[in-house]
Amino acid sequence: MPEKKYKCALCHKEYVRSADPKTDFFPFCSERCRLMDLGSWLKEEYVTSRALSEEEQAALALREEEGEQDG
Ligand SMILES: [Zn+2]
Repeated sequence: MPEKKYKCALCHKEYVRSADPKTDFFPFCSERCRLMDLGSWLKEEYVTSRALSEEEQAALALREEEGEQDG
């Protein structure tokens, strides 16, 4: 019986799941991919909760310019 192959959710490489939970990183092919996915998720979460959108940045820049002209 052929081994069931899965596609890594990060790098899309085909891999065979390990029977050992310690080395089974489903849905990722490796610990590296799992950590990278977690890392990028945390980074996105951080960016979206902290960074301003382009529109907000433009609005802020306008406000600063107006303030200077006012003085
Ligand atoms: Zn992978």
